[in-house]
Amino acid sequence: MQRTFLMIKPDGVQRGLIGKIIGRLEDKGFKMVAGKLVQVSDEQAKRHYAEHEGKDFYDNLVKFITSGPVFAMVWEGDNIIQLSRILMGKTEVTEALPGTIRGDYASHTPHNLIHGSDSPESSAREIANFFEAHELVDYDRSITPWM
Ligand code: GDP
Ligand code: MG
Repeated sequence: MQRTFLMIKPDGVQRGLIGKIIGRLEDKGFKMVAGKLVQVSDEQAKRHYAEHEGKDFYDNLVKFITSGPVFAMVWEGDNIIQLSRILMGKTEVTEALPGTIRGDYASHTPHNLIHGSDSPESSAREIANFFEAHELVDYDRSITPWM
């Protein structure tokens, strides 16, 4: 079982898409283990996007992600890092296919609604940047064997 950090970006919160996006993840069979509304600080945003420091879009990205609350989450599932990124769709909205979250709801990069970790290493780092260990809830679902 794998965990990933998923975050509905400020555009998703402002547009009232929290429920729809969580619904997509639930429909897929993933299990939410933590979730909260967060006003991201400048320092937290810079830690989160450290890998993009120095790129031409970095300053605007930090500005965007701190421009309003995000909905930060931890989800669990087999191969969830890879599968959730498929569900999210491509970064660039012109490449995000219909049927994906970005393909169905986003029409302007960088306002692509959702962030998802891209490796186990970034998942661990990103989860630690938003959650304390006690906020991750350990529970079973009776439906798990049917997934
Ligand atoms: P992701 O993992 O699919 O979110 O994509 P990246 O990690 O490459 O980029 C992080 C975020 O930065 C993206 O989701 C976009 O919001 C934004 N971004 C990425 N590339 C560009 C770009 O070329 N221009 C702009 N303006 N924003 C970008
Ligand atoms: Mg990324």
